[in-house]
Order: sequence, then C-alpha cells, then structure tokens
Amino acid sequence: MTIFLGRETARELDACIEDMRPVWIGRLRDYVSVPSTFHFPEDVAERTRLCLEGGLRPEHVPHHATLARRIGDDLAALGLRVTAGAGTLPGDEAGVPYVRARTDGDGPVDLLFSSHYDVVGADPGTWRTDPFAALENDGWIFGRGTSDAKGPLSAMVSAWEAIQRTGLRPARAVEFLFTGDEEVGGRRGVRSAELRGTLDARACVVGEPSALRGARTIGVMTKGRMEIRLTARPTASGSAHSGLAGGDSPLERMVSVLEHLRRDRERLAEAFRRCAEEEPAWSGVERAEPQVRILGLRQSAVASSGNITGGMAEARVEVRFHPPMSGDRVEEWLRSALAAQGDAGLEVEITRWNEPAVLPPAHGLHAEVARRAERMGLGLSVAAFPAGSDMSPLVNLHGIPTCIASCADLAANAIHGDDERISERELLDSVKLYAALMLEGT
Ligand SMILES: [Zn+2]
Repeated sequence: MTIFLGRETARELDACIEDMRPVWIGRLRDYVSVPSTFHFPEDVAERTRLCLEGGLRPEHVPHHATLARRIGDDLAALGLRVTAGAGTLPGDEAGVPYVRARTDGDGPVDLLFSSHYDVVGADPGTWRTDPFAALENDGWIFGRGTSDAKGPLSAMVSAWEAIQRTGLRPARAVEFLFTGDEEVGGRRGVRSAELRGTLDARACVVGEPSALRGARTIGVMTKGRMEIRLTARPTASGSAHSGLAGGDSPLERMVSVLEHLRRDRERLAEAFRRCAEEEPAWSGVERAEPQVRILGLRQSAVASSGNITGGMAEARVEVRFHPPMSGDRVEEWLRSALAAQGDAGLEVEITRWNEPAVLPPAHGLHAEVARRAERMGLGLSVAAFPAGSDMSPLVNLHGIPTCIASCADLAANAIHGDDERISERELLDSVKLYAALMLEGT
C-alpha cells in the first residue's frame, strides 16, 4: 500500500510545530550560545597547515566537545542510538568530535541527514548584537551559525522530535551525522579516516542554508574551491638593488602574473562553457562561471631605505567553480596561463579544498524532496548551491547521492557576515521539511 503524505499529515505537523515552537527555538539558541569556532593562529600558512596536515591541539577547539555532547544528549533523549567519535589527522593532539545517531535496527540506512556544528568566527566589534547570545527580535534570531548551519542542524534534531510527538510513522531507517570542521575543509569531519568506509545510505540530505533571496531551493550541485599560493624569489639576473636591475623585482613579477591571471579568466570561463555543453546533465540549472579572486599579496624582507627591491613576493589566489568544471580542468588552465607568462620563476603550490559535486540526475532524490515539500505546502525548486559544502565528500568520497536542502536563506541571512540571522519561519519550515522527509509515504 502506498501512503500519500496528505493535508492531514501537514496539519498534524503544523499543530506540533505550534506547540513546540519555544522549545525548538530554545534548542537553536542553546546551540548558538556555544561558540564552536576554531581558535587558529592568525598566520594563514600556519592555519592552512593545521587544517590540512595535522597538529590540532585542544586550545584550537575549546568548545567543540561541549556542543557535540549536547547534540548527542538531545538525540539520545529522543530514543536514537548515538555513537560519538572524533576525526583526526596525523600529529593531532586533539580530534574534532562528530555525532552519529540512527533509528533502531541494523538494516541499511535509507536517508542520512548531515550537517555541521562548527561556525566561522565573529568579530563582536562589528556586530550589532552579541554573536553568541542568540537574541530574538521581531521573529528573527541573530547569532553566528543561526543559518550556517546550526539552524538546519537543530531543525533536523527537532524534526525527529516532531515525528516522535505526533506518532506519525517514520518507517524509513534514518541516520544523523553532525561534524565539527566543515568550515575549515572537513579533513576531520566527513573526509576523516575515522568515517571513511563507515557511511552507507541510499541518499543524503545536507542541512545548509540553501534558499536564495527568498526562493527555497534544493541544491543539486556544489562548488569546488582551489587555493593557489604563488611565490616569487629574487632571481640571479635581477640584482637586489633597484638602480641596477631595471625593476625586475619579485613583487613586480608577481603583479604582472596576477594581472595576466585576471585577464585570462575569460579563457577559463570559455572552458567552463565548453564542458557544460559536453555534459548536458542538469543543463536547465543555472550555475556560476568559475570565479578567480586574489586573496592576498605581500612582500617580505624589504629594507626600510626603500632603495632595495629584493625580498620575496607571495600571492594567494582562489578559484571557485561549479560542475562540470573539475579541479583538473582548472589546474590545466592555471598551468597554461602561467606558461604564457614565460619563465617568471614562480613557485606554485595548489591546494584543492573541495572538488565540485553533482547529484546524479537519474537518482530522483531531488524529485522526492520536491514532492514531499510540496505536500507540506513548501515549494522547493532545483538550483546550483553557490558555495562549497560537505556534499562534495559525501558524493565523491562516500558515493552517496546527496542534495542540499533547508528553508534558510543563504544570501539574505548574512552567513559568514555580521549579524547573521534566521527567521523563526525559516527554522520551523525547515523542521517541517525534514520531518516530511523522515516519514513513511511518498
Ligand atoms: Zn555551512
């Protein structure tokens, strides 16, 4: 027998949401009040090293364990079987805790709900409210992580509570996975050695703010991000003395290479358009052309007299790209753009933080999410997710068909910005969406 999720189900959920509203808003406020940011050194190279290579110490993650414990307790109190663990890299003194929980039974997991409890930093000096006080005002909750991603994460927990309280049937085997390092690359989270080979689900929904300026969307693809570090050192031909070298300083070489990369962006965009034509999957989904941004440029060891132009120049460049562009194609572009500059004598170091990922169009997860949302009175349409996310490792590393969905607005709610927020409506609609996904029926 096929059970259709009908108006009656939506009404039952609405009534429960109305009852539980203060409790669920309180849950989000509690999560936001734990400042689960990373306390990394200011130096970018050192920070990158800690993210990619290891050496994490307890003082870098002073609040992660507190929040992971709280989330685990909440899930256990709702009758789920909770497993806690920590993701590590070699050389770590401390790991980053993750929380997993699943419904009874040992059968295969039907739907995995994944999100992250870590947040980016917040400067209290530039916020209008205390970023970790989770103040409520006029239907909005303000605070770091309210939208990205403690709102969606807490909505997943509360959705399970909604199922329990309404007595609706959750015939699907459901698992939750909440990790603590999505914002710094996920090497100790979804990509960690501890989780490799342990995740298995028919499909996964990632809880991130996926609405875009009022339009609720299901993210069916997510961006890749590559960081390029360029270093120019003094050459034997260029003397350290400006009067002798004709301006061949590392800094000037670097500036002309950066100018060239910026001009050459159009060639990268063309390559993107070409591969989009070669791969017509999701052709109706609008996605961004590759973005090339200069993140930083610095010169070291310049003598104060101003007459010496030696020292070293360093630049950081970032490329973000949607599928079907791949990291390999971006690297190809970069190598040829640099080669066109002749021998600028640059050292090139490439870090791929994230590969882009796509939900296989034939899988049908997006249609299933859209249909259930529709029955709950929430219209969700398919879109490209405009940032990186854990969808990448879930698809590329764990092979789980994944989409990104919530009712929280990514752009309008100032995620990663000052005065990040979520409306009560967005939070409670997200609860309703996730509850509808957990139910038996279609
Ligand atoms: Zn996020």
